[in-house]
Amino acid sequence: MISTSIHPDLHINSYGSYLRRRFGCRISKVNVDGGFTCPNRDGVRGTGGCIYCDNSSFSPGGTVAAIPVEIQMAEGMAYHRKRLGSEKFIIYFQKFTNTYGPVEKLHDLYSRALAHPDVVGISIGTRPDALSDPAIDLLTDLARTSYVCLELGLQSMDDSILTQINRGHTLADYLQAVERVSGRGMDICTHLIHGFPGESSADFIRTAQLISSLPVNSLKIHQLHAVKDTRLAEWYYDGRFVPLTHQQYVADLCDFLELTPPSVTIQRLYGSAPLAIRVAPTWGLKNNQMWYSVVNELKRRGTWQGCRLAEGGRNVSNL
Ligand code: SF4
Repeated sequence: MISTSIHPDLHINSYGSYLRRRFGCRISKVNVDGGFTCPNRDGVRGTGGCIYCDNSSFSPGGTVAAIPVEIQMAEGMAYHRKRLGSEKFIIYFQKFTNTYGPVEKLHDLYSRALAHPDVVGISIGTRPDALSDPAIDLLTDLARTSYVCLELGLQSMDDSILTQINRGHTLADYLQAVERVSGRGMDICTHLIHGFPGESSADFIRTAQLISSLPVNSLKIHQLHAVKDTRLAEWYYDGRFVPLTHQQYVADLCDFLELTPPSVTIQRLYGSAPLAIRVAPTWGLKNNQMWYSVVNELKRRGTWQGCRLAEGGRNVSNL
């Protein structure tokens, strides 16, 4: 039986639909730059960053966002109001590692974001190894009165791949972070990437089993893609990175989704980079074409998110 959380036209539990159900109106996420940096760049956890990290957006000295968060929010909200008719907003601290700083700074930024009457919550993008106890306590406190989503980058559950891509953390770090933040009133979103060198389709699809065993509320998934001036771009040019075909990515993602619990909302199904910096893959599809290529494949199969799971459960079979 199809879970009521699965959108009848999309065959997945889309995050947009979830937000509409939860808040009763159209919600948009508005990205802001809180002026953070990353411990995988500054030497605390590693140097050089992940091999796909966009160097052009990283300025070592730029730890203070030039534009006040209120102004960034106002611009983003005006854009989404006009373009999509959004009524309420979630402020997304996206750039770099948004719990990497003194708790006083975190408190100041998060509170300022939540102070706007049209803001229903915040989303915080971070690494599993950059969560201090005071930061978790702060988020727990904020989650008592507002929606709080903690977005944890895992990318791969294979430690050898995490080492290869210079992530600077392990699967164990991620599992420990999930354990530390679960049951504290905040949603947990996990970021995954498919298409790493040495990763098979089965390896990626197996990640659904891990997700189904954890208190993860939502997922962001995208294909590995290289942008200019990254080590991954070098790997592409020297043949060490061979991008997935669009057809393979869609097939693997649908297999993955069929094994993902229907209760897990899907925030992202693909990634895109501006043409000016895009290196590979170049599938030549617009964003909505990418989204619907996955949805249409599920429809073609006559399947939906979680259809291969045991009834109502998080037990994954046939892996
Ligand atoms: S964790 Fe994010 S910001 Fe840090 S190096 Fe990796 S991709 Fe870049």
